[in-house]
Amino acid sequence: MNDNLYTVFAERFIPKDPFIRSPDGSDLHSYADLEHYSSLYADRLERLGAVPGDRVMVQVEKSPFCLFLYFACLRGGFVYLPLNTAYQPEELAYFAENAEPAVVVASPEQQPVFKDFARCPVESLDANGQGSFTEELPDYVSQSIVPRSHDDLAAILYTSGTTGKPKGAMLSHGNLASNARTLHELWGFVPGDVLLHALPVFHVHGLFIATNVAVYNGSPLLFFEKFEARSVIEALPSATVYMGVPTNYTRMLAEAALNTEQCTNMRLFISGSAPLLTQTFKEFEVRTGHRILERYGMTETGMNTSNPLVGERKPGTVGPALPNVDVRIVDNKNEPVEEGETGSLLVTGPNVFSGYWRMPDKNLEEFTDGFFRTGDLANRDEDGYISIVGRSKDLVITGGLNVYPKEVESAIDRIAGVNESAVIGIPHRDFGEAVTAVVVLDEDASVTEDDVITHLKSTLANFKVAKRVYFVDELPRNTMGKVQKNVLREEYDSGAR
Ligand code: AMP
Repeated sequence: MNDNLYTVFAERFIPKDPFIRSPDGSDLHSYADLEHYSSLYADRLERLGAVPGDRVMVQVEKSPFCLFLYFACLRGGFVYLPLNTAYQPEELAYFAENAEPAVVVASPEQQPVFKDFARCPVESLDANGQGSFTEELPDYVSQSIVPRSHDDLAAILYTSGTTGKPKGAMLSHGNLASNARTLHELWGFVPGDVLLHALPVFHVHGLFIATNVAVYNGSPLLFFEKFEARSVIEALPSATVYMGVPTNYTRMLAEAALNTEQCTNMRLFISGSAPLLTQTFKEFEVRTGHRILERYGMTETGMNTSNPLVGERKPGTVGPALPNVDVRIVDNKNEPVEEGETGSLLVTGPNVFSGYWRMPDKNLEEFTDGFFRTGDLANRDEDGYISIVGRSKDLVITGGLNVYPKEVESAIDRIAGVNESAVIGIPHRDFGEAVTAVVVLDEDASVTEDDVITHLKSTLANFKVAKRVYFVDELPRNTMGKVQKNVLREEYDSGAR
């Protein structure tokens, strides 16, 4: 039996059905095109010298051709290694040295950059499918699919690595297939579904969740090269499912065009990659009648938990563990914590990666009894719903006491006039770290540092109250909408000193 993920998809999609649909509703590529191009691209990679198991490093703009390249790597047994288009030459040189790719495919602008340091062929591919990579495609279509087992690597994704060097998470054909099957079922995908796809495709969310689940369903992707709130809202009547990051939802809410009528064809809005504020969840429900389904996962594991399709979607939670995923929440001694208590979140399941590329020591540290330490802090309620409290490295330890940033942020966010907030720990002579809040106000709101501190004193234990409150126009975020607390720490650390 061939466990190649491509086979899993090819057994399900119908070649004549549309695969990529443009936002104006015209069909650009069918599943037959996916079969055709992915086969040609796989053969081209082979001619360039790649053999199964080799890494193919890709840094190109989002386009249907970039997806064809991903599927080509699957069927050719090559390890797909997509890179964020924001990476700079120094970072790229590190990736090339660490991953030792057999072929690099880059955008035409980036091709010369890679040529400076890559020790393999470097080809170009632009958003229209043009470039040196496609200039010399074979003149026959082999349609071959290389046999792969469950455990064979399908992809390596570098984690964002806010501390130290980025680590390459090794994901197998089995890891990705498991998530595609589970989420397809859990989120009730049916014939006729159309996925509005406006996420980047170098990240787990846009690639392994959005794309894989839609392709597993043989659905069209209503394809946006990037997220733009107005155009996405305009296209909602032609879609049934949307997957986005929380900032997508806040940006949509800022547009008057978002209303119930615009969403009548939609059956499901899903959010992940960063915490969805309860306020956003509620406002979205009022404006559209839809309760956003929040789920939780990460590069190393794919999805681990999800609020249900049918049943209670609890705001502020990421739902129970997926059916085949086991979750543990433990204290510093690795003992399970009581219900409702916060601890470190560990996961195991067929979706969980096998380790970081060429980092055996790190792998020993990160796995305990077969469970992967996610680095997230979480608690679980009486119904098994999990809430993510933050990254453990963002935990603030002040005077020896733990402060979970989310608890303080939630208290601040309840103040009228506050739009959102981020709580960080800043080194402090007496306390070790001082709880520090960075706050974004609504337009025209006038909330002062004293107002925030007074409110916190009336709602939280004294040690959790922010020592300083700073006001900013917006919080620094990465492309997936995650607040970059490391950036805030650096900025306010030097400020506080
Ligand atoms: P990445 O590997 O870039 O996908 O980042 C994974 C991290 O994003 C997780 O470890 C969490 O800290 C965070 N994350 C993902 N989904 C959620 C969510 N629904 N709520 C809170 N944090 C999330």
